[in-house]
Amino acid sequence: MNEDSIVRVRFAPSPTGYLHLGGLRTALFNYLYARSKRGKFVLRIEDTDRSRLVKGALANLLEIFAWLGIDFDEGPHIGGDFAPYVQSERLDIYRKYADELIMQGNAYRCFCAKERLDEVREGQIAGGKPPMYDRLCRDIPAEESRSRAENEKFVVRLKMPLEGEIKFKDGVRGYISFDAGGIDDQVLLKSDGYPTYHLANVVDDHLMKISDVIRGEEWVPSTPKHIHLYRCLRWEPPRFHHLPLLLNPDRSKLSKRQGDAGVEDYRAKGFLPEALINYSALLGWHPSDDREFFSREDLIREFSLERVTKAGAVFDVDKLTWLNRRHLNAMSDVDFLVRAKDNIPASMDFSSDAGKRALKSIREGLERFSDIPEKMKPFTWNWEGEIPADVRERLDSETAQEVYRVILERRNEIEKWDTDAFKGLMKAAGKAAGVKGKDLWMAVRAATTGSLQGPELTLMADYWGKERFFGHIAKAVEFDER
Ligand code: GLU
Repeated sequence: MNEDSIVRVRFAPSPTGYLHLGGLRTALFNYLYARSKRGKFVLRIEDTDRSRLVKGALANLLEIFAWLGIDFDEGPHIGGDFAPYVQSERLDIYRKYADELIMQGNAYRCFCAKERLDEVREGQIAGGKPPMYDRLCRDIPAEESRSRAENEKFVVRLKMPLEGEIKFKDGVRGYISFDAGGIDDQVLLKSDGYPTYHLANVVDDHLMKISDVIRGEEWVPSTPKHIHLYRCLRWEPPRFHHLPLLLNPDRSKLSKRQGDAGVEDYRAKGFLPEALINYSALLGWHPSDDREFFSREDLIREFSLERVTKAGAVFDVDKLTWLNRRHLNAMSDVDFLVRAKDNIPASMDFSSDAGKRALKSIREGLERFSDIPEKMKPFTWNWEGEIPADVRERLDSETAQEVYRVILERRNEIEKWDTDAFKGLMKAAGKAAGVKGKDLWMAVRAATTGSLQGPELTLMADYWGKERFFGHIAKAVEFDER
């Protein structure tokens, strides 16, 4: 493959209806590489395993990529010069190459029934040998094979060399070599006429002119089979780059079993796409400095495959949360309000100066959008629902009730409501009621927010305005009379 040739990469998921974090990382590295090299990024759906089909999977996938802001140049949704991009629509192509491989003598029909294969397998396992096909059908003469194929079910298997070494250069790991004799005669075409992953993947990567295959490390053992296929078909293989495994903090492989592993899960929890992208980029790629905060544009500028590392990358949700906070912080107020709108109660108004200050306090230290309703509760509380016991106790206490009464008496003395007026009112009320410090402020906090914790009271009082503030205090007096 010519180093200067145009970069064409692909993301080739099977349509499971779910984007695993590992899938996002693979897609992202392909995307960043394509964008940084002004190449093309192709989406190809590898749906030849009919038992794993999930309805609506493609639509889900496209929706999640749109949310992430990762776009493709070719794919089933936009077409392209190498359409169709869904493998189940390309069956004739794979069959043609399977036939060609049989004709050349590089592949053969295997007529073994499942029962026989199971038996062979069990025997090998019992004998402590690695299970693989015993190649019974490998040497059936061509004529006999053709005639049996007319009445019998068969699969097509790749004839792997019985000895020698298969070697390839991996962009991340350097040269990797395999003993060809230890590699199974891989099924290429199943009895239902569908290709396996291996055949379809190689044929499509070639026909779609893919220059670089960037995928997870779990595909390393498949690569010698692919290399052998390229050789048999006399095609030049693409460059391979295998990305390090994603690990849980206990260094087990990141999987759904240990909690959330899907982009959708993190989206539902209120994480931002830019934080997920930023964090995923760091899973196996090291920038030239120790920087960690990246916008998409920075990543496109800085990304290079040379800086992909070999060691497994641990997925650390605390770090993702930290990056999410930083991306939230970097957003303008306008962006924040537009993007967080589903999490903001319609009654909140941030247009006044007091509103802007309230917004600032809500944004402070915020980790995710989904934390906003909780942070806004004290601002919007309305005497509805159950009041916690410690708050009831506070509202009921004699000192608090005295504070409420004197505050209400002063209502008409206040002309202009602002933070100074509120502070003055608190001071005067405390004096008249003979209550100071915590008892005074907690009494008012309980009456206005239904809680004993929350943002600064002065800030909230300013946001509420005079009517709402005194309305709350009047309710607190009534509370005593219940
Ligand atoms: N269809 C494979 C997958 O599900 C693609 C692997 C590859 O990139 O070759 O991940």
